Amino acid sequence: MQIEEFFQKFEGYSLTYDDLIFLPDYVDFAPESINLKTKITREIEINTPFASSPMDTVTEVELAIATALQGGLGLIHYNMSPEEQWKQIRRVKGFKSGFGSDPLTLSPNSRIWDVVAVRNEYGFTSIPITSDGKSHGQLVGMITKYDYSTLTDEDLDKTIAERMIPADRLTIATFGELSINGTLDINKANASLVDSRSPALPIIDSKGCLKYFITRSDLEKYISCPHATSDQSKRLLVGAAVETWFEKAEERLAAIHNDVDVIVYDTSQGFTSYELDLVKWTKQHYPDLQVIGGNVVTADACEALIEAGVDGLRIGMGSGSICTTQEVGGVGRGQATAVYECSKVCLSHGVPIIADGGIRKSADIIKALCLGANAVMLGSLLACTNEAPGKTHIKDGVKVKEYRGMGSMPAMERGSSFRYGIERSALRVPEGVTGMVSSRGSIAEWIPCIMQGVRQGLHKLGMKGIDDIHRKVAQNQIKIERRSEGAKREGDIHGLYAVHTEEMFTQTVAENRQPQLLYN
Ligand code: IMP
Repeated sequence: MQIEEFFQKFEGYSLTYDDLIFLPDYVDFAPESINLKTKITREIEINTPFASSPMDTVTEVELAIATALQGGLGLIHYNMSPEEQWKQIRRVKGFKSGFGSDPLTLSPNSRIWDVVAVRNEYGFTSIPITSDGKSHGQLVGMITKYDYSTLTDEDLDKTIAERMIPADRLTIATFGELSINGTLDINKANASLVDSRSPALPIIDSKGCLKYFITRSDLEKYISCPHATSDQSKRLLVGAAVETWFEKAEERLAAIHNDVDVIVYDTSQGFTSYELDLVKWTKQHYPDLQVIGGNVVTADACEALIEAGVDGLRIGMGSGSICTTQEVGGVGRGQATAVYECSKVCLSHGVPIIADGGIRKSADIIKALCLGANAVMLGSLLACTNEAPGKTHIKDGVKVKEYRGMGSMPAMERGSSFRYGIERSALRVPEGVTGMVSSRGSIAEWIPCIMQGVRQGLHKLGMKGIDDIHRKVAQNQIKIERRSEGAKREGDIHGLYAVHTEEMFTQTVAENRQPQLLYN
């Protein structure tokens, strides 16, 4: 049945991704030619159709960088002060083709324990040393992990000057030799780093002051990620969540608006006078800032927020894996119905939508895109990666990571009660749970596996890319059916005595890489 008639027939039903199946269509191209580029707001294009959820066990700086390197968009959560959020945004923006244009520096008088603190907080193992400790001060040396990692506790009080490699023994490049018409030639600089055989290369100006600092580990990450999403200056894209509470939003935006690419007003119910007013206010005060509104699940709410000025919308209520909103409040919508009903409005206004919550596998991503979403937002599917902030534990012999709803009690105590509109309530009922997900290794391996599944599905559907899908949704050319309970059972593995999951789901992620385990 054509998609429009299908949803007319099921008007009044809240359907989920699992309820649907899409029918294959004629194919005359290879899966590799499928283009996953998509718009995530009116102005921002990303290369892989996913955003990381702004949750405190999902997106902080490390995951935001890893997400952008995979072509997605990282959205940093707001359970932290505006200053801390701003610092994290700056660190993502500072990760430019492996270049720190605003490098983190220390002075020769700082102590070794300052170096260890930087390593523990930011993960940097090589740090440039300037005479005054400022980012663009006179370069006097560099300290690497080999200079401090084997020191005893007493040695931690030594000054950096006693352990660093002084500038006259370092390989240093000058901006003049690596630039063309006053702009750093990134390829030349990368080649110099490789030639230097050192873990990092400081680049100085004609006065000996530090201009850039390139590290080998950043360069390696960048080289292996040709689809990274970046702005016009080739800096990674990053977004941030903001509360829908005027005083809070005003303070946070003042801190971050110069550096962040996009903000998302983060509330579980976005069809409110507060959010509509805030969006209008934001567009008046920061006209160049891209604003994603939400969360909403109805056409009326989309119309209202689009009229207020949003550049993108986040769709979903009650579908998240850690969410109890539907159980506590009896409110929400089946995610497939929500995405389709909202996309009809948003596609006609040219406002991209993000299908948020309930994505458990590549099939759900394909379904969301075919219902008109531009991208999906991932919570549990990213909380399981090494780059997510949650701690890794071993439970019953399995590696697991913490994952919790922003409406769970511990998360709300850190600030996210604003998301649920109960920051002033004396009694709070959580709308989310805390739990664990099994650990999946690095995003660098996990996301390519998931996206390869997406390509394979789109290929069978005869879809060449997201623009192609949306054209077909708008022209009512997509064919869809409702899955019976029997069809769901048939579509899953069945009738076997045992399943060797490792063999079944082993895939080669890319050439020269080890096979990866998917969905074990
Ligand atoms: P998941 O990808 O299914 O794990 O869902 C993640 C999404 O759930 C987030 O992007 C939020 O929209 C939503 N969410 C996060 N925390 C909570 C909560 O505590 N209650 C309800 N929904 C939540």
